[in-house]
Amino acid sequence: MTGVPVTISSRTAVALASPPAPAESSRIASGPLVDRFGRVHRDLRISLTDRCSLRCTYCMPEQGNEWLARTSILTVDEIVRIAGVAAAAGISTFRLTGGEPLLRRDIVDVVRRLAALRGPDGTPVELAMTTNGIRLPELLPELVDAGLARLNISIDTLRRDRFAELTRRDRLDDVLAGIRAAQAAGLRPLKLNAVAMRGVNDDELVELVEFAMAHDAQMRFIEQMPLDAGHTWDRAQMVTRDEMLDTLGRRFALTPVPGRGGAPAERWEIDGGPHTVGVIASVTAPFCGACDRMRLTADGQFRNCLFSNQEYDLLPVLREGAGGGTDGAVDDVLRSCIAGKLPGHAINDPSFLQPARGMNAIGG
Ligand code: SAM
Repeated sequence: MTGVPVTISSRTAVALASPPAPAESSRIASGPLVDRFGRVHRDLRISLTDRCSLRCTYCMPEQGNEWLARTSILTVDEIVRIAGVAAAAGISTFRLTGGEPLLRRDIVDVVRRLAALRGPDGTPVELAMTTNGIRLPELLPELVDAGLARLNISIDTLRRDRFAELTRRDRLDDVLAGIRAAQAAGLRPLKLNAVAMRGVNDDELVELVEFAMAHDAQMRFIEQMPLDAGHTWDRAQMVTRDEMLDTLGRRFALTPVPGRGGAPAERWEIDGGPHTVGVIASVTAPFCGACDRMRLTADGQFRNCLFSNQEYDLLPVLREGAGGGTDGAVDDVLRSCIAGKLPGHAINDPSFLQPARGMNAIGG
């Protein structure tokens, strides 16, 4: 097998050579992506860049970020080629993320080509994006035309001073314009994500839910995870799922929505519906047992978990002809990555080591 795991610290960027042209005809389909614990993988998060227009304190440092080498960033041909192999292996949902995916100049081309992919039975794949929304007003019509089906937009606070402090950029109005553009474009379900933080925005949970309902969107609160570049995460400071539910339950009647499947968010109907609120409790209520996700970083590394310390390098196959440089070799790396997946992320294990990369470089 080609896909030898690499530890992140020992990996060096590979110089860009002429990538082989996508070989649609040689795509192999050797069955679904099932790991050692029987989990079938259907969801691939593709990070398009580690760059971002914001500097959220829980994600990136204000300055001194070690950016990925530009030569190591996957080209659109390489992304489409990898995604084509993944689709042939049963990945049916692709989510574009980063960094900020809308910073890629070729974003419409990426969306158009990925949205055209088909699964083994000919079913079109579903293409979603997680974004800070800042460039949506200018780009959304083209993105929808290109085949973007769903959007998650991140917004942690509705207060301008807080937003500027938390993201280190005074761009709340731009994010709000992005949310309005998404609402008007009619992509549903529209999801809004907020990381709940003690003493920062935990007094705004109800307001955020009301804001989301007013925009026909689903609010989702995320427990802060140990993925910040500064390694300052403090479990004792984290706002837990139970605390969030306690706060929301004092204002709304919450009824659990059954049938979560592999989704990261548990959901509750608000005051009898139709609106819902979600909580993503990766730390206090991990959902690894149903995880069907894997990740591709902007520099061509497959990851089987946000919190893993191993990556499976595709650049030798894509750029140096490793394993013959074929789609079969790409599929081998994909399957090695799946085979190496552990039963859980182990954040709650005393031996847990925070990944070397921050969230912006892994792809959130
Ligand atoms: N730039 C895009 C955005 O703002 O949504 C996509 C990338 S961002 C890394 C994706 C999601 O990860 C955002 O909703 C963000 O709030 C979340 N995130 C980043 N760091 C996190 C952390 N340490 N804990 C929990 N969520 C985090």
